[in-house]
Amino acid sequence: MKYGVNEQGYYGDFGGAYIPEMLYPNVEELRQQYLKIINDADFKAEFDQLLKDYVGRPSPLYHAKRYSEKYGANIFLKREDLNHTGSHKINNAIGQILLAKRLGKKRIIAETGAGQHGVATATVCALMGIECIVYMGEVDMARQAPNVARMKMLGAKVVPAKSGSKTLKDATNEALRDWIGNPVDTHYIIGSVVGPYPYPDMVARFQSIISAETKQQLKEHTGKELPEYVMACVGGGSNAMGMFYHFLDDESVKLVAVEAAGKGVDSGHSAATTFLGKEGVLHGSRTILMQTDDGQVVEPYSVSAGLDYPGIGPQHAHLYKINRAQYVSVTDDEALQAGLLCCQLEGIIPAIESAHALAQLEKMKFKADDNVVVCLSGRGDKDLDTYIKYFNY
Ligand SMILES: *Cc1c(COP(=O)(O)O)cnc(C)c1O
Repeated sequence: MKYGVNEQGYYGDFGGAYIPEMLYPNVEELRQQYLKIINDADFKAEFDQLLKDYVGRPSPLYHAKRYSEKYGANIFLKREDLNHTGSHKINNAIGQILLAKRLGKKRIIAETGAGQHGVATATVCALMGIECIVYMGEVDMARQAPNVARMKMLGAKVVPAKSGSKTLKDATNEALRDWIGNPVDTHYIIGSVVGPYPYPDMVARFQSIISAETKQQLKEHTGKELPEYVMACVGGGSNAMGMFYHFLDDESVKLVAVEAAGKGVDSGHSAATTFLGKEGVLHGSRTILMQTDDGQVVEPYSVSAGLDYPGIGPQHAHLYKINRAQYVSVTDDEALQAGLLCCQLEGIIPAIESAHALAQLEKMKFKADDNVVVCLSGRGDKDLDTYIKYFNY
């Protein structure tokens, strides 16, 4: 695959594994094993079965008629919001728990910001009867109390990270410290296409089910498997990578990645990584991240917790740099209004993350026979408080 990872773990200038020496054995074990395991027929059969019977896949590709009329093109929504636990994150969590089992791991750790990845991880650990420890910033635990409760109900231990700003970055540090201390029996489930190689490639492969299904479903709808446009929001970039994956080598398909501009790209309260960022190292890989001139990571901001991340996965950095995909951004206000429009036009309450991708529809120029697929990465139940406050319901 032209845009895939090379043997050294790089996508062009980006990727690699920039990790402390003490983590080397853990990451090296994964690197040596992951392809062998996930390409094994037994693994594939179990993965496919769980995606079907437990997650509820294939997720529908829905032809959104009223959106299509409004925007003057054939708009399709890939309904990841209908998955068990409410988003695409479960696809990766299932893949990684099956991998961990085959590696003989008895204990799972994860970090979480808003708690969505923590809930997906706690879910698959319950499913497999494996011990689960989720690190979460103390501030985030207070802000996201319902997700803390969910994780606890699912049997996970939620450990507060009390250092620094007590948010995602600090939770990540705690998880890494745990992994260094427990290299033999523990697997670390990372929730997006970020982290040291092989994580970005592994997570992209697990999420690539999104575009594999889309090709087939679009053919059933339109007689053609290639759309003109594919669009998705980008936090770390896993739903977008899954949505782009099987279209990467089809150069006629335009790929549109939507970042969170927050209060505006120049406001100092933003998470528009490609616009604001520079090349550097974040969470174990070389990528593009928001940083000061002396290399301090800048605190990102977005109304949507899932997009509130100061970097993007290394494959996205590559697709951006070589112009294979277009990176744009949408503000909080534009996303929230687009979320409401989706409710009123299609009867679907989207996650605010996904609403960023929908907001971009407003800014596109389509031809009448263009087929456009938007990844609806998650449902909006978790965001009701934010919608209520914004619209004064
Ligand atoms: C976590 C999340 C995202 C952002 O993560 P990616 O890795 O960029 O996909 C987007 N949408 C939803 C619904 C999420 O929960």
